[in-house]
Amino acid sequence: MRKWHNARGEGKVFSFDVVDEHQGEIRLTCFNQVAEKFEPMVQVGGVYVISKGSLKPKRKEFNNTNSDYEISLELSSVVEECSEEVDIPRVIYQFSKVRDLQEMDFGSVMDICGIPETIGEAAVIMRRDGTETQKRTMTVVDDSGCSVEVTAWGTIGAETIPQLEQMFQQGLRPVVAFKGLRLGNFGGRSLSTISSSQINIDPEVPEAAAVRNWYAQGGAQNKTSLTTAYGGRADKKCTFGMLKDEQSSGSLPGTLFLQVTGTISFIRSDSGVMYPACPRMNGERACNKKMRQEGQDEKWYCEKCQSESPTVDWRYIFSILAMDHTSACWLSLFNEAGESIFGMTANQLKDLQDNNTLEYERVVSAANFKTFHFKVRVAEDTYNDERPALMRCGALSALP
Ligand SMILES: [Zn+2]
Repeated sequence: MRKWHNARGEGKVFSFDVVDEHQGEIRLTCFNQVAEKFEPMVQVGGVYVISKGSLKPKRKEFNNTNSDYEISLELSSVVEECSEEVDIPRVIYQFSKVRDLQEMDFGSVMDICGIPETIGEAAVIMRRDGTETQKRTMTVVDDSGCSVEVTAWGTIGAETIPQLEQMFQQGLRPVVAFKGLRLGNFGGRSLSTISSSQINIDPEVPEAAAVRNWYAQGGAQNKTSLTTAYGGRADKKCTFGMLKDEQSSGSLPGTLFLQVTGTISFIRSDSGVMYPACPRMNGERACNKKMRQEGQDEKWYCEKCQSESPTVDWRYIFSILAMDHTSACWLSLFNEAGESIFGMTANQLKDLQDNNTLEYERVVSAANFKTFHFKVRVAEDTYNDERPALMRCGALSALP
Protein backbone atom coordinates (compact mmCIF):
# COMPACT_ATOMS: atom_id res chain seq x y z
CA MET A 1 0.00 0.00 0.00
CA ARG A 2 1.36 3.36 -0.95
CA LYS A 3 0.19 6.84 -0.14
CA TRP A 4 0.32 9.58 -2.75
CA HIS A 5 -0.10 13.31 -2.62
CA ASN A 6 -0.43 15.72 -5.49
CA ALA A 7 -2.08 19.00 -6.35
CA ARG A 8 -5.51 17.35 -6.46
CA GLY A 9 -5.28 15.78 -3.04
CA GLU A 10 -4.02 12.58 -1.53
CA GLY A 11 -4.94 8.96 -1.40
CA LYS A 12 -3.81 5.37 -1.13
CA VAL A 13 -3.17 2.79 -3.76
CA PHE A 14 -2.63 -0.94 -3.45
CA SER A 15 -1.77 -3.20 -6.35
CA PHE A 16 -0.86 -6.84 -6.78
CA ASP A 17 -0.04 -9.10 -9.68
CA VAL A 18 -1.76 -12.44 -10.16
CA VAL A 19 -1.00 -15.44 -12.36
CA ASP A 20 -3.37 -18.21 -13.44
CA GLU A 21 -2.97 -21.82 -14.51
CA HIS A 22 -2.75 -20.79 -18.19
CA GLN A 23 0.41 -18.74 -17.62
CA GLY A 24 -1.66 -15.55 -17.75
CA GLU A 25 -0.64 -12.63 -15.63
CA ILE A 26 -2.44 -9.41 -14.77
CA ARG A 27 -2.14 -6.56 -12.30
CA LEU A 28 -4.99 -5.57 -10.00
CA THR A 29 -5.16 -2.07 -8.60
CA CYS A 30 -7.37 -0.54 -5.96
CA PHE A 31 -7.58 2.93 -4.49
CA ASN A 32 -8.44 4.42 -1.09
CA GLN A 33 -11.27 2.55 0.70
CA VAL A 34 -11.00 -0.29 -1.79
CA ALA A 35 -7.27 -0.53 -1.07
CA GLU A 36 -7.96 -0.64 2.66
CA LYS A 37 -10.56 -3.35 2.15
CA PHE A 38 -8.47 -5.74 0.05
CA GLU A 39 -4.92 -5.13 1.24
CA PRO A 40 -5.24 -7.20 4.45
CA MET A 41 -6.89 -10.08 2.54
CA VAL A 42 -4.25 -10.62 -0.11
CA GLN A 43 -1.06 -12.58 0.63
CA VAL A 44 1.84 -13.33 -1.69
CA GLY A 45 1.46 -16.97 -2.73
CA GLY A 46 -2.23 -17.09 -1.86
CA VAL A 47 -4.82 -18.42 -4.32
CA TYR A 48 -7.95 -16.34 -4.84
CA VAL A 49 -11.12 -16.19 -6.91
CA ILE A 50 -11.56 -12.61 -7.98
CA SER A 51 -14.70 -11.23 -9.60
CA LYS A 52 -16.48 -7.98 -10.47
CA GLY A 53 -13.43 -5.94 -11.31
CA SER A 54 -13.24 -3.65 -14.32
CA LEU A 55 -10.77 -4.08 -17.13
CA LYS A 56 -8.72 -1.22 -18.57
CA PRO A 57 -5.62 -0.92 -20.74
CA LYS A 58 -2.43 -1.05 -18.69
CA ARG A 59 0.20 1.65 -18.44
CA LYS A 60 3.05 -0.18 -20.11
CA GLU A 61 5.88 1.75 -18.54
CA PHE A 62 5.04 0.59 -15.03
CA ASN A 63 3.55 -2.82 -15.57
CA ASN A 64 5.54 -5.75 -16.92
CA THR A 65 2.89 -8.43 -16.64
CA ASN A 66 2.24 -10.31 -19.89
CA SER A 67 -1.28 -8.86 -20.21
CA ASP A 68 -2.13 -5.69 -22.12
CA TYR A 69 -4.74 -4.87 -19.49
CA GLU A 70 -5.06 -4.36 -15.80
CA ILE A 71 -8.05 -4.80 -13.51
CA SER A 72 -9.25 -2.17 -11.12
CA LEU A 73 -11.22 -3.33 -8.13
CA GLU A 74 -14.18 -1.49 -6.61
CA LEU A 75 -15.87 -1.86 -3.24
CA SER A 76 -18.38 -4.20 -4.88
CA SER A 77 -15.63 -6.46 -6.25
CA VAL A 78 -15.12 -9.85 -4.67
CA VAL A 79 -11.81 -11.42 -3.62
CA GLU A 80 -12.27 -14.85 -2.06
CA GLU A 81 -9.70 -17.35 -0.96
CA CYS A 82 -9.87 -20.40 -3.20
CA SER A 83 -10.59 -23.60 -1.31
CA GLU A 84 -10.02 -25.97 -4.25
CA GLU A 85 -6.64 -27.52 -4.99
CA VAL A 86 -5.33 -25.85 -8.13
CA ASP A 87 -1.97 -26.06 -9.82
CA ILE A 88 -0.95 -22.48 -10.38
CA PRO A 89 2.64 -21.43 -11.01
CA ARG A 90 3.85 -19.01 -8.33
CA VAL A 91 5.74 -16.71 -10.64
CA ILE A 92 5.93 -16.36 -14.40
CA TYR A 93 9.27 -15.16 -15.71
CA GLN A 94 10.23 -13.63 -19.03
CA PHE A 95 13.98 -13.52 -18.60
CA SER A 96 16.26 -11.09 -20.36
CA LYS A 97 19.98 -11.71 -20.64
CA VAL A 98 22.22 -9.23 -18.85
CA ARG A 99 24.09 -8.60 -22.12
CA ASP A 100 20.85 -7.44 -23.77
CA LEU A 101 20.42 -4.68 -21.19
CA GLN A 102 22.88 -2.70 -23.29
CA GLU A 103 20.25 -2.27 -25.98
CA MET A 104 17.21 -1.79 -23.74
CA ASP A 105 15.60 1.55 -22.88
CA PHE A 106 16.18 3.05 -19.45
CA GLY A 107 13.08 2.54 -17.36
CA SER A 108 12.31 -0.88 -18.90
CA VAL A 109 11.21 -3.51 -16.43
CA MET A 110 12.52 -7.05 -16.88
CA ASP A 111 13.32 -10.38 -15.21
CA ILE A 112 16.88 -11.65 -14.78
CA CYS A 113 18.18 -15.12 -13.94
CA GLY A 114 21.78 -15.04 -12.75
CA ILE A 115 24.31 -15.67 -10.01
CA PRO A 116 25.06 -12.97 -7.43
CA GLU A 117 28.85 -12.75 -7.04
CA THR A 118 28.97 -10.03 -4.38
CA ILE A 119 26.44 -8.75 -1.86
CA GLY A 120 27.04 -5.31 -0.36
CA GLU A 121 26.38 -4.27 3.21
CA ALA A 122 22.90 -3.03 4.07
CA ALA A 123 22.73 0.75 3.88
CA VAL A 124 20.04 2.93 5.38
CA ILE A 125 18.95 5.68 3.03
CA MET A 126 17.02 8.76 4.07
CA ARG A 127 14.22 9.71 1.72
CA ARG A 128 13.31 13.32 1.12
CA ASP A 129 10.12 12.98 3.12
CA GLY A 130 12.26 12.05 6.15
CA THR A 131 11.42 8.35 6.16
CA GLU A 132 14.17 5.78 5.92
CA THR A 133 14.56 2.90 3.57
CA GLN A 134 17.17 0.20 3.21
CA LYS A 135 19.15 -0.89 0.20
CA ARG A 136 21.35 -3.86 -0.67
CA THR A 137 23.42 -3.95 -3.81
CA MET A 138 24.53 -7.16 -5.50
CA THR A 139 26.62 -7.86 -8.58
CA VAL A 140 24.80 -10.41 -10.70
CA VAL A 141 26.31 -12.33 -13.63
CA ASP A 142 24.55 -14.58 -16.13
CA ASP A 143 25.50 -16.89 -19.00
CA SER A 144 25.62 -14.02 -21.49
CA GLY A 145 29.00 -13.25 -19.90
CA CYS A 146 27.93 -9.87 -18.51
CA SER A 147 27.37 -8.65 -14.99
CA VAL A 148 25.25 -5.81 -13.62
CA GLU A 149 24.58 -4.25 -10.24
CA VAL A 150 21.16 -4.99 -8.79
CA THR A 151 19.90 -2.87 -5.91
CA ALA A 152 17.14 -4.23 -3.70
CA TRP A 153 15.18 -1.46 -1.97
CA GLY A 154 13.16 -1.52 1.22
CA THR A 155 11.73 -4.86 2.20
CA ILE A 156 12.27 -6.48 -1.21
CA GLY A 157 14.66 -9.37 -0.57
CA ALA A 158 14.41 -8.94 3.22
CA GLU A 159 14.12 -12.72 3.55
CA THR A 160 16.05 -13.96 0.55
CA ILE A 161 19.18 -11.78 0.85
CA PRO A 162 20.11 -13.00 4.37
CA GLN A 163 19.60 -16.58 3.08
CA LEU A 164 21.88 -15.78 0.18
CA GLU A 165 24.54 -14.43 2.55
CA GLN A 166 24.42 -17.66 4.55
CA MET A 167 24.89 -19.66 1.38
CA PHE A 168 27.80 -17.37 0.45
CA GLN A 169 29.44 -18.17 3.79
CA GLN A 170 29.18 -21.85 2.95
CA GLY A 171 30.91 -21.16 -0.34
CA LEU A 172 27.75 -21.63 -2.40
CA ARG A 173 26.80 -19.47 -5.35
CA PRO A 174 23.13 -20.23 -6.04
CA VAL A 175 21.17 -19.10 -9.08
CA VAL A 176 18.71 -16.33 -8.30
CA ALA A 177 15.68 -15.25 -10.32
CA PHE A 178 14.79 -11.57 -10.11
CA LYS A 179 11.25 -10.75 -11.18
CA GLY A 180 10.47 -7.16 -12.19
CA LEU A 181 13.67 -5.08 -12.09
CA ARG A 182 13.88 -1.61 -13.58
CA LEU A 183 16.80 -0.59 -15.76
CA GLY A 184 18.51 2.62 -14.73
CA ASN A 185 21.63 4.39 -15.97
CA PHE A 186 23.29 4.78 -12.62
CA GLY A 187 26.95 4.04 -13.23
CA GLY A 188 26.45 2.89 -16.77
CA ARG A 189 23.59 0.40 -16.53
CA SER A 190 22.14 -0.95 -13.33
CA LEU A 191 18.95 -2.53 -12.06
CA SER A 192 16.71 -1.62 -9.15
CA THR A 193 13.77 -3.34 -7.56
CA ILE A 194 10.30 -1.76 -7.73
CA SER A 195 7.46 -2.44 -5.34
CA SER A 196 6.28 -5.55 -7.22
CA SER A 197 9.75 -7.11 -7.56
CA GLN A 198 10.51 -10.60 -6.29
CA ILE A 199 13.81 -12.36 -5.58
CA ASN A 200 13.82 -16.17 -5.58
CA ILE A 201 16.76 -18.47 -4.86
CA ASP A 202 17.18 -21.61 -6.99
CA PRO A 203 14.01 -21.13 -9.06
CA GLU A 204 12.71 -24.23 -10.81
CA VAL A 205 13.07 -22.96 -14.35
CA PRO A 206 15.19 -24.29 -17.24
CA GLU A 207 17.14 -21.03 -17.45
CA ALA A 208 18.49 -21.61 -13.93
CA ALA A 209 20.06 -24.94 -14.94
CA ALA A 210 21.74 -23.33 -17.95
CA VAL A 211 23.20 -20.53 -15.82
CA ARG A 212 24.36 -23.01 -13.18
CA ASN A 213 26.19 -25.17 -15.76
CA TRP A 214 27.79 -22.17 -17.40
CA TYR A 215 29.02 -20.90 -14.05
CA ALA A 216 30.30 -24.31 -12.93
CA GLN A 217 32.42 -24.50 -16.11
CA GLY A 218 34.13 -21.24 -15.21
CA GLY A 219 32.09 -19.10 -17.58
CA ALA A 220 32.18 -16.09 -15.28
CA GLN A 221 35.97 -15.78 -15.39
CA ASN A 222 35.87 -13.44 -18.37
CA LYS A 223 32.90 -11.20 -17.94
CA THR A 224 32.00 -7.66 -18.92
CA SER A 225 30.53 -5.40 -16.28
CA LEU A 226 27.69 -3.14 -17.43
CA THR A 227 27.82 -1.11 -14.22
CA THR A 228 31.07 0.76 -14.11
CA ALA A 229 31.50 4.40 -13.33
CA TYR A 230 30.33 4.90 -9.78
CA GLY A 231 27.72 2.25 -9.28
CA GLY A 232 26.12 1.67 -5.96
CA ARG A 233 28.38 3.41 -3.53
CA ALA A 234 28.14 6.75 -1.79
CA ASP A 235 30.41 9.71 -2.35
CA LYS A 236 31.61 8.57 -5.72
CA LYS A 237 33.06 11.07 -8.11
CA CYS A 238 31.03 11.85 -11.18
CA THR A 239 30.61 14.52 -13.85
CA PHE A 240 27.74 16.94 -14.41
CA GLY A 241 26.89 14.96 -17.53
CA MET A 242 26.36 11.84 -15.42
CA LEU A 243 24.47 13.84 -12.83
CA LYS A 244 22.15 15.19 -15.48
CA ASP A 245 21.46 11.73 -16.90
CA GLU A 246 20.70 10.59 -13.39
CA GLN A 247 18.27 13.47 -12.88
CA SER A 248 16.40 12.85 -16.10
CA SER A 249 16.27 9.07 -15.88
CA GLY A 250 14.83 9.04 -12.39
CA SER A 251 16.19 5.55 -12.11
CA LEU A 252 17.17 5.53 -8.49
CA PRO A 253 14.95 5.71 -5.48
CA GLY A 254 16.44 6.92 -2.23
CA THR A 255 19.25 9.38 -1.81
CA LEU A 256 22.76 9.43 -3.18
CA PHE A 257 25.77 11.51 -2.41
CA LEU A 258 28.08 12.24 -5.31
CA GLN A 259 31.15 14.38 -5.72
CA VAL A 260 31.40 16.67 -8.71
CA THR A 261 34.13 19.17 -9.47
CA GLY A 262 32.83 22.19 -11.33
CA THR A 263 33.01 25.90 -11.94
CA ILE A 264 30.26 28.32 -10.96
CA SER A 265 28.99 29.99 -14.10
CA PHE A 266 26.02 31.84 -12.63
CA ILE A 267 24.73 32.71 -9.15
CA ARG A 268 21.02 33.45 -8.99
CA SER A 269 21.00 36.44 -6.65
CA ASP A 270 18.07 38.54 -7.94
CA SER A 271 15.92 37.60 -4.95
CA GLY A 272 18.83 37.54 -2.52
CA VAL A 273 21.05 34.67 -1.46
CA MET A 274 19.87 34.37 2.13
CA TYR A 275 16.77 34.25 4.28
CA PRO A 276 15.92 35.35 7.83
CA ALA A 277 15.99 32.17 9.94
CA CYS A 278 14.45 31.64 13.35
CA PRO A 279 17.30 31.43 15.91
CA ARG A 280 15.19 29.76 18.60
CA MET A 281 16.75 26.47 19.77
CA ASN A 282 14.71 23.27 19.57
CA GLY A 283 16.90 21.00 21.64
CA GLU A 284 20.32 21.03 20.00
CA ARG A 285 19.21 22.47 16.69
CA ALA A 286 18.04 25.94 15.82
CA CYS A 287 14.54 26.13 14.38
CA ASN A 288 15.82 27.81 11.17
CA LYS A 289 12.32 28.32 9.73
CA LYS A 290 11.88 31.45 7.67
CA MET A 291 10.68 34.37 9.80
CA ARG A 292 8.59 37.29 8.66
CA GLN A 293 8.61 40.83 9.82
CA GLU A 294 5.30 42.24 10.95
CA GLY A 295 3.68 45.00 12.89
CA GLN A 296 4.79 48.55 13.19
CA ASP A 297 7.69 47.70 15.48
CA GLU A 298 8.94 45.34 12.74
CA LYS A 299 9.48 42.44 15.06
CA TRP A 300 10.36 39.08 13.54
CA TYR A 301 7.78 36.35 13.88
CA CYS A 302 8.19 32.56 13.46
CA GLU A 303 5.09 30.69 12.37
CA LYS A 304 6.38 27.37 13.61
CA CYS A 305 7.46 28.48 17.08
CA GLN A 306 4.59 30.95 17.23
CA SER A 307 6.91 33.42 18.85
CA GLU A 308 8.51 36.78 18.23
CA SER A 309 12.18 37.63 18.25
CA PRO A 310 13.99 40.97 18.05
CA THR A 311 16.81 39.37 16.02
CA VAL A 312 17.13 36.85 13.23
CA ASP A 313 19.88 34.57 12.03
CA TRP A 314 20.58 35.03 8.32
CA ARG A 315 21.25 31.80 6.46
CA TYR A 316 22.26 31.12 2.88
CA ILE A 317 19.86 29.65 0.36
CA PHE A 318 20.41 30.16 -3.35
CA SER A 319 20.95 28.33 -6.59
CA ILE A 320 23.88 28.30 -8.95
CA LEU A 321 24.57 27.01 -12.41
CA ALA A 322 27.74 24.93 -12.20
CA MET A 323 29.52 23.26 -15.07
CA ASP A 324 32.37 21.00 -16.04
CA HIS A 325 33.61 19.80 -19.43
CA THR A 326 30.59 17.51 -19.85
CA SER A 327 27.54 19.59 -18.92
CA ALA A 328 25.99 22.20 -16.62
CA CYS A 329 23.57 21.67 -13.73
CA TRP A 330 21.53 23.86 -11.41
CA LEU A 331 22.36 23.17 -7.78
CA SER A 332 20.56 24.37 -4.67
CA LEU A 333 22.94 25.53 -1.98
CA PHE A 334 22.42 26.00 1.71
CA ASN A 335 24.23 27.63 4.59
CA GLU A 336 27.52 25.72 4.80
CA ALA A 337 28.02 25.71 1.04
CA GLY A 338 27.31 29.46 0.98
CA GLU A 339 29.99 30.07 3.61
CA SER A 340 32.53 28.21 1.48
CA ILE A 341 31.54 30.06 -1.66
CA PHE A 342 31.40 33.61 -0.30
CA GLY A 343 34.08 33.17 2.38
CA MET A 344 31.93 34.67 5.11
CA THR A 345 28.80 33.94 7.10
CA ALA A 346 25.39 34.97 5.82
CA ASN A 347 25.11 37.45 8.72
CA GLN A 348 28.34 39.12 7.58
CA LEU A 349 27.20 39.26 3.96
CA LYS A 350 23.82 40.64 5.04
CA ASP A 351 25.65 43.36 6.92
CA LEU A 352 27.50 44.28 3.71
CA GLN A 353 24.28 44.22 1.70
CA ASP A 354 22.69 46.70 4.12
CA ASN A 355 25.68 48.98 4.65
CA ASN A 356 28.04 48.65 1.68
CA THR A 357 26.20 47.65 -1.48
CA LEU A 358 29.24 47.95 -3.72
CA GLU A 359 31.29 45.57 -1.57
CA TYR A 360 28.32 43.18 -1.36
CA GLU A 361 28.08 43.05 -5.14
CA ARG A 362 31.82 42.57 -5.45
CA VAL A 363 31.78 39.59 -3.05
CA VAL A 364 28.86 37.92 -4.86
CA SER A 365 30.29 38.38 -8.35
CA ALA A 366 33.78 37.33 -7.21
CA ALA A 367 32.39 33.84 -6.54
CA ASN A 368 31.58 33.41 -10.24
CA PHE A 369 34.03 31.28 -12.19
CA LYS A 370 35.55 29.83 -9.05
CA THR A 371 35.99 26.05 -9.05
CA PHE A 372 34.76 23.86 -6.21
CA HIS A 373 34.30 20.24 -5.28
CA PHE A 374 30.58 19.91 -4.78
CA LYS A 375 29.11 17.21 -2.66
CA VAL A 376 25.77 16.75 -4.33
CA ARG A 377 22.79 15.07 -2.81
CA VAL A 378 20.55 13.54 -5.42
CA ALA A 379 17.25 12.61 -3.89
CA GLU A 380 14.15 10.92 -5.04
CA ASP A 381 11.10 13.12 -5.00
CA THR A 382 8.32 10.70 -5.64
CA TYR A 383 5.48 9.27 -3.63
CA ASN A 384 5.21 5.89 -5.22
CA ASP A 385 7.23 4.11 -7.80
CA GLU A 386 4.49 4.27 -10.40
CA ARG A 387 5.63 7.65 -11.59
CA PRO A 388 9.11 8.68 -12.64
CA ALA A 389 11.22 10.10 -9.84
CA LEU A 390 12.14 13.74 -9.91
CA MET A 391 15.62 14.31 -8.66
CA ARG A 392 16.98 17.28 -6.86
CA CYS A 393 20.53 18.42 -6.38
CA GLY A 394 21.87 20.22 -3.38
CA ALA A 395 25.49 21.05 -2.77
CA LEU A 396 26.24 20.23 0.83
CA SER A 397 29.71 21.62 0.80
CA ALA A 398 31.92 23.39 -1.66
CA LEU A 399 35.65 23.26 -1.16
CA PRO A 400 37.91 25.53 -3.15
ZN1 LIG B 1 11.05 29.11 14.91
